[in-house]
Amino acid sequence: MKIAVLAGDGIGPEIVAQAVRVLEALTSDGMKFETEPALLGGCAVDATGKPFPEATRKLVTEADAVLLGAVGGSQYDKLTREQRPEQGLLAIRKELNLFANLRPVVLYSELVNASTLKPEVISGLDILIIRELTGGIYFGEPRGIKWHDDQRVGFNTMIYSESEIRRIAHVAFQVAHKRDQKLCSVDKMNVLECTQLWRDVVTKIAKEYPDVELSHMLVDNAAMQLIRNPKQFDVMVTGNMFGDILSDEASMLTGSIGMLPSASLDDKNKGLYEPIHGSAPDLAGKDVANPLATILSTAMMLRYTFNQEVAAVRIERSVKKVLSQGYRTSDIFQPGMRKVGTTEMGDAVLMNL
Ligand code: NAD
Repeated sequence: MKIAVLAGDGIGPEIVAQAVRVLEALTSDGMKFETEPALLGGCAVDATGKPFPEATRKLVTEADAVLLGAVGGSQYDKLTREQRPEQGLLAIRKELNLFANLRPVVLYSELVNASTLKPEVISGLDILIIRELTGGIYFGEPRGIKWHDDQRVGFNTMIYSESEIRRIAHVAFQVAHKRDQKLCSVDKMNVLECTQLWRDVVTKIAKEYPDVELSHMLVDNAAMQLIRNPKQFDVMVTGNMFGDILSDEASMLTGSIGMLPSASLDDKNKGLYEPIHGSAPDLAGKDVANPLATILSTAMMLRYTFNQEVAAVRIERSVKKVLSQGYRTSDIFQPGMRKVGTTEMGDAVLMNL
């Protein structure tokens, strides 16, 4: 299993180091990982002038999976749009055709008080949000800002083809089939023709998955329902922009950005795995960042790209056990718990693994 490791910027190298230790520990189970580092984001700009250098492009194309820390930092804010670290992220998604972004939103019972919502609303929460990642309004043409009459107008294009909707819908139905067989498709069909097509195509594909119960919801209602009664959802599927917003909203139901992993997959389940948070420059170099989201991303890698469900569950159980033993990094710390740094948290996961 060849894994490209892109530690990135800020806390990236610290959290990725812990995730790699976890993967290495699994070699005692007979699994063989070949990990190779490469540059992406700000560190790549510093070294080569480009956020997604050719050597990185070559490595990620050859690898079976990519493990990413995070990119970005305020020192890069003045660079041109093409040079910015985040462009490296968009470029790698496009290059690898990673159209399906999977974000589990799971609340560990040990962290129920870390959320701003009432425990009875969120305890037992386990949602999977699937966001289309390479199409929709973020990529549609034409786009831009131009002069019209005597003022500037800004415009973007929301566009989805039937084939783009079909492929993300199949991913969503297949994932829902393996979970609680409930899929909610989110659109804005009352206003946007593009999402009327989305609803039509998803409804048609549902016939191929009779065991999955499909529902539809308008995005404004979905935003409200995620706060009102999030446990009504099992799997949600939606387009690029709605998914961007809803998945960030949902992540905060768990109260801890340092806990949530993600997977971005192509049509052969090759994937890029990363925590949902950014490079947290305020914490970089201090050995205090929470590495659990990145460690949990390796569990997703084993599940979705390498088909190693048992190993994935072992990692997830180790994380749960670490929490029940009271280990907490500062972002999830509560009085009475044992405060640890990044490396110590990695040690605790390894011990349980
Ligand atoms: P951020 O996610 O880096 O940080 C938000 C807050 O959460 C900060 O207070 C940070 O200290 C905390 N935090 C984040 N990860 C944590 C962890 N593992 N453990 C403990 N606390 C954690 O978002 P931001 O501050 O808005 O952005 C910082 C940089 O990251 C920016 O340059 C931004 O562009 C970039 N960014 C990158 C990605 C990515 O690489 N996928 C995603 C989001 C933001």
